[in-house]
Amino acid sequence: MQVTINGKNYDVEKNTTILKACKDAGIEIPTLCHDDRLSPSGACRLCLVEVEGWKNLHTSCTAICKDNMVIQTHSDKVIKGRQEVLDLLISNHPLECLTCEKSGACKLQDYCYEYGITEGTYRWEMKKPYFDSSNPFYNFDSRKCILCGLCVRVCDELQGTSAIGFENRGFETNVATPFNEGLINSTCVSCGNCVSVCPVGALEPKSKEKFRYWETRDVRTTCSYCGVGCQMDLVVKGNKVVDVKPAFDALNEGLLCVKGKFSYNFLSHPDRLKRPMVKKDGVFVETSWEEAYNLIVNKMKSVKEYYGSEAFAGLTSARCTNEENYLFQKMFRAVLGTNNVDHCARL
Ligand code: SF4
Ligand code: SF4
Ligand code: SF4
Repeated sequence: MQVTINGKNYDVEKNTTILKACKDAGIEIPTLCHDDRLSPSGACRLCLVEVEGWKNLHTSCTAICKDNMVIQTHSDKVIKGRQEVLDLLISNHPLECLTCEKSGACKLQDYCYEYGITEGTYRWEMKKPYFDSSNPFYNFDSRKCILCGLCVRVCDELQGTSAIGFENRGFETNVATPFNEGLINSTCVSCGNCVSVCPVGALEPKSKEKFRYWETRDVRTTCSYCGVGCQMDLVVKGNKVVDVKPAFDALNEGLLCVKGKFSYNFLSHPDRLKRPMVKKDGVFVETSWEEAYNLIVNKMKSVKEYYGSEAFAGLTSARCTNEENYLFQKMFRAVLGTNNVDHCARL
């Protein structure tokens, strides 16, 4: 099929949404509730476009392209429509950007800047505040929630837990967080995937560090907790990890578990070993890598000479990468000469 977007013709596959067709054409459409991994919901109304022959603006995430469709993504009417949506959203939103932890990484803040919205022109009562801090790893602040539904859909469609949902209707609509009835009764596994997708500061990790996103840099790494090998971006301020974001262009497709997402404080824990330790006269003392390796090699050589290769057995860890595990078994088989190698994941 062929569609015309902003005066240029593009070929598109059948059943392509207008949003995807625009994205493929390199045209950016603002969205607050869209995620390529999830079914479209059209909740935020920000991805409005104008289609020739259609009376009203339409959400591009839910509209399917038709042959010879003529689409405008940035006409005056579209811009005005998006400004109206942002105005409505910001009219009952606490403007706390100065102190909000999300500032600098908040899509609502970015779009208000882009579309020139400085304050809400509608006057209605702020949402009834509801602050839930009962989860050990994150907080929920209902005042900042824009009801995009991403957290609910991620928990249901990708995490497969369905621990949260919407409650009430109209102005009283709220995300029913898992802990209303007590953490112990909740099915929530604290994976934090809802936190990772929240486009605003409604779901925020309980960070121990004060930081601004513009002070940080992302460092891509492999999670060290198990053998799945999830990719993640460590958010680093100075020399300290202050947050973790799941990588989208990797096998974990933007998801992590509770360990990968929240358990990074060991990295800068004062008890963490920074140098090898060798027991001397019954007490562990710091030593050099050279001395430590010499000790290991000499002990292995003498065991092999005295007892033979079958005296060795190696147990490796799911906290190592595939490559490290490969090297480990190779060393046991090729260097020490035994097949006595196993892996903790078999338990
Ligand atoms: S959620 Fe975004 S718009 Fe709202 S206070 Fe925080 S940074 Fe500002
Ligand atoms: S932490 Fe995970 S399981 Fe719990 S509500 Fe969020 S997505 Fe669902
Ligand atoms: S908590 Fe965040 S992700 Fe969930 S509905 Fe509110 S704004 Fe959207």
